[in-house]
Amino acid sequence: MKPGLLIVGTDTDAGKTVAACSLVAHLRLDCGLNILPAKPVQTGCTRRTDGSLAAPDLDAHLAAAGLAAPAPALLRLMAPYCFEPPCSPHLAAAQAGVTIEPAAIRDALAELAAACDGVVAETAGGLLAPLNLRGETMLDLARLLGWPVLVVAANRLGCINHALLTLRVLADASLPVAGVLMAQTAPPSADPLAAAIRRDNPQAISRFGRVPLLGEIPYLPPSATPPVWRTLAREAPALAQALEKIFP
Ligand SMILES: [Mg+2]
Repeated sequence: MKPGLLIVGTDTDAGKTVAACSLVAHLRLDCGLNILPAKPVQTGCTRRTDGSLAAPDLDAHLAAAGLAAPAPALLRLMAPYCFEPPCSPHLAAAQAGVTIEPAAIRDALAELAAACDGVVAETAGGLLAPLNLRGETMLDLARLLGWPVLVVAANRLGCINHALLTLRVLADASLPVAGVLMAQTAPPSADPLAAAIRRDNPQAISRFGRVPLLGEIPYLPPSATPPVWRTLAREAPALAQALEKIFP
C-alpha cells in the first residue's frame, strides 16, 4: 500500500482541518508530490454536489491545495461516509440507517492511495470517537490502516491530559506516532498565566508523552486564506522532516 498519514485530534475542534490543509498544500505545492486528502467520516454536512452530501473539511483540503473538484468516483473514496447532523459519527450514521464499516474505509483509502503518491486522511472527533453501534472507533480504523499518526492538540487548558491520553492509547495499540502538532484554536489572551500555560503545553506534552513536537499552528482568524495555511508546514522544519520520512 502507498504511504499515508492519519491526522487524529485530541478533541473535536482541535485544529485537525487546518493541519490537514497545511500538510496537503505543502506536500503537493512545495514538494511536488501527488498527495490526495481524505475525510473518511464527516458529520455536519450542509452542501450537496450531484445529490450527494459534500464533506466541508475535504472541501477545505482541496481548496488549500488548489485542487479542482475531483470526479464523483474519486470523491466517494475521499469521503465515503457523510452525514448531515453535527454529532458523533455513530449517532449520525444510526439516524441515517447506516453502519460505518472501518474495513470499508480502509479499502477506500487503499484504492485512493493506489491512484496517487499517498494520502493524508483527517479523522473525525477524537481517537475513541465511536463509528458504529458495535463500538468500533477511530482507533480501530487506525489499526486497520497502520499508517503513522499525527496528533493535533488544541493549545488550551486541559490539552496536556487529552494529548497524553491519546498518546497512551496509540502506544497501547503499538501504532506509530509521527509527532504532535499544537494548534492555537482561539485568539491568544494577553493574561500572563494564560501565556505561560500556552508556552508550557507543547513542552509538557512532548516531554511527558515522549513524542516529538513537530510545530505550532498560530491562531488563524476565520478570514485566513489557503495561501496562509500552506506556509504553516513549510515554516515548521520538524514537521517538514517528519513528512519527508513518511512521503519520501
Ligand atoms: Mg475538521
